[in-house]
Amino acid sequence: MIYLDNNATTQVHPEVAKAMGPFLSNEYGNPSTGYDLGRRSNEAVKEARNQVAEFLNSDTEEIVFTSCGTESDNTAIFSAITAMPEKRHIVTTSIEHSAVIAFAKAVMPGLEITELPVNEEGIISLEDLKDAIRKDTALVTIMWANNETGVCQPIEEASLITKESGSLFHTDAVNAAGKIPIDLSAGNIDFLSISGHKFHAPKGIGALYVRKGAPYKPLLIGGGQEEGKRAGTEAVAQIVALGKAAVLATERLNDQGQEKLSQMRDALEQNLIKGIKGTHRNGSSRFRLPNTSHLSFDDVDAGDLLILANDKGLCIASGSACSTGKREPSRIMKAMGHTDERALSSIRLSVSSMNTDQEIEESSKIIIECVEKIRSLRSDGPVIFSSDK
Ligand code: PLP
Repeated sequence: MIYLDNNATTQVHPEVAKAMGPFLSNEYGNPSTGYDLGRRSNEAVKEARNQVAEFLNSDTEEIVFTSCGTESDNTAIFSAITAMPEKRHIVTTSIEHSAVIAFAKAVMPGLEITELPVNEEGIISLEDLKDAIRKDTALVTIMWANNETGVCQPIEEASLITKESGSLFHTDAVNAAGKIPIDLSAGNIDFLSISGHKFHAPKGIGALYVRKGAPYKPLLIGGGQEEGKRAGTEAVAQIVALGKAAVLATERLNDQGQEKLSQMRDALEQNLIKGIKGTHRNGSSRFRLPNTSHLSFDDVDAGDLLILANDKGLCIASGSACSTGKREPSRIMKAMGHTDERALSSIRLSVSSMNTDQEIEESSKIIIECVEKIRSLRSDGPVIFSSDK
């Protein structure tokens, strides 16, 4: 099997699995207890907090462990809105993950939401942001990197504009963390979400960075864990895993990790552009994650391509969601102004440091073969493939 869907989730790194192992067996103490077994868990959580803080170039007390990226996003929005009840407006973008958009719409009644559009490259305009911020804007929330296209937003500039306006700034960095360096030392970002399973920790662990001094209200209320910022007995094994994954990601980024990812991604992209006529790249090629390629192929249904690739042992993604038997075009592609046809023919390829050059060559061949097959059958009329696996 070749796995090229690392923006969906990643394989747990063997060193991460090793680090968390003892906390799934003998080291099962509750970190809030006073005997040695519990104290060792408490120490392990402290160490992981230091590791995550270092990964983000922030302070230890600014890291709150959560269960996932979704909880981190939900908490940041909930916190900003409830900490400043007089402000009832938030600014976001039309391409956010639903953990941001759906939560804001569903759970915060009476909230006014301005969604900034993106251009064909998938990028917001800073002028639009300036125009959208009002006196009653509690929060600006803009994702760092889009999970589908990999396109990165001008977060440094956007957070500075927001800071100068007096509103709070949150960024969903769930798909950016581990792939590009994140440095929070400038202090313009109030909240930042990450999720372990996107950079080789297991699913079920995330973190929210909360800038020291930022107004904060917890989403989960109960015991006093996480200094009262997030109740619930700590998931020690997962927290240890997140810490170790953060250390490994920092090492990779310091050792030309971005270049290594982009070499693989670019080789794959070039093979496909050369090998398949009518290939189009979607989103900015300059401002994007080093691991992500988002491509459309003329006259190819991405759903068919996924099924054929899967049958050949290749895991790739399409942005389209299948509802009631009909494939819906990706809302991200639509927000970028693309037609339904182009959106429905788009796939996402996302590599990780656990991929090899040989896998890149093999997967290029598989995709080219599958596209040729779909096109040759389509010339005889429409076909719907169904997986035999
Ligand atoms: N935000 C982005 C950009 C994501 O890609 C994801 C996961 O797909 C999430 C939030 C949600 O993260 P989690 O799966 O950890 O809840």
